[in-house]
Amino acid sequence: MIDDTLRLFFALPCPPEQAAAICAWRDSQDFDGRAVARDNLHLTLAFLGAQPTHHLDALLQMAATVQAEAFSLTLDRLTTIGKGFICLQPGTTPPELLRLVAALSERLAALGVVLDCRPFLPHLTLSRQARSRPQKLAPGFAWQVDRFVLYRSSNVADGVRYDELGSWSLSAP
Ligand code: ATP
Ligand code: MG
Repeated sequence: MIDDTLRLFFALPCPPEQAAAICAWRDSQDFDGRAVARDNLHLTLAFLGAQPTHHLDALLQMAATVQAEAFSLTLDRLTTIGKGFICLQPGTTPPELLRLVAALSERLAALGVVLDCRPFLPHLTLSRQARSRPQKLAPGFAWQVDRFVLYRSSNVADGVRYDELGSWSLSAP
């Protein structure tokens, strides 16, 4: 049977320089679980799940109407959430990040996309299926967030692949 859906989510990609620094630090720690690939590091803004392929154009057009400000993001807490997701989180969530998520959520609702009912929890996953539960301060990885993207998530032989289907700039503050 043909699967005419795309598994989609909006996210902040982790820029290459910060991804390299984060992975170098992570790999120097003794975390267990399955390490997330460097190219896959991201912070999810809204998880759409399986969407009909013919809805893609409407989603791309919707994202282009989001007007949000660029901001500085600092990930300075190491936490474990859910069932063994070792993550970096911001100690302080920038209000611009919350406004961006709210803008996307409102527009998705208007398009009839139902999001997970759990509240938004900003996190960047470093390792999955970990048995240990480290919690501590992290070095404080920071970058200027100046865009958000729509990813298509696909399962591939060695894990998961995210393809960028669209990218939108955030305006200078
Ligand atoms: P895999 O599930 O194959 O191990 P993955 O979790 O990286 O890989 P997806 O399940 O497609 O890939 O998820 C993409 C992103 O969306 C991840 O950041 C994931 O944590 C997040 N996500 C997945 N499901 C939900 C959900 N129900 N609510 C909120 N975020 C979700
Ligand atoms: Mg998943």
